[in-house]
Amino acid sequence: MALERTFSMIKPDATRRNLTGAITKMLEDAGLRVVASRRVWMSLRDAQGFYAVHKDRPFFAELTEFMSSGPTIVQVLEGENAIAKNREVMGATNPAQAAEGTIRKVHALSIGENSVHGSDAPETAAQEIRYWFSDTEIVG
Ligand code: ADP
Repeated sequence: MALERTFSMIKPDATRRNLTGAITKMLEDAGLRVVASRRVWMSLRDAQGFYAVHKDRPFFAELTEFMSSGPTIVQVLEGENAIAKNREVMGATNPAQAAEGTIRKVHALSIGENSVHGSDAPETAAQEIRYWFSDTEIVG
């Protein structure tokens, strides 16, 4: 299979606990390569734009306030089957249901403060990468 790219974020609950390196290592150990990375403290407006697909969900305000509450690491990951592989190493949204050894099982605090984001499909990966990075910032 050809190399694929996906979009990943290390969320504020994790940067607050100084877990950027530990989480990045778990991604790398799964065979994913960081080909773009930036630390951002996103505005509420950025978070609302990024998560617009969830705007009618009951947790939208909580989610966007959390995501703008501290620094986030935005990343592009590259690897074979990168989208599915990243979702696998992240684990289920709710850490209580996440498989052993996954990032969310090991590090997440709750269903909201769940340490990482990963695109769920090729279309969303392309859209989310474009939201945060220009082509020249991605170096494979
Ligand atoms: P995932 O991040 O696993 O793809 P979703 O796309 O369903 O999950 O949700 C996006 C994010 O919204 C989650 O990662 C989590 O931070 C937050 N979220 C989802 N469900 C809830 C909930 N019931 N309460 C609070 N936050 C939630």
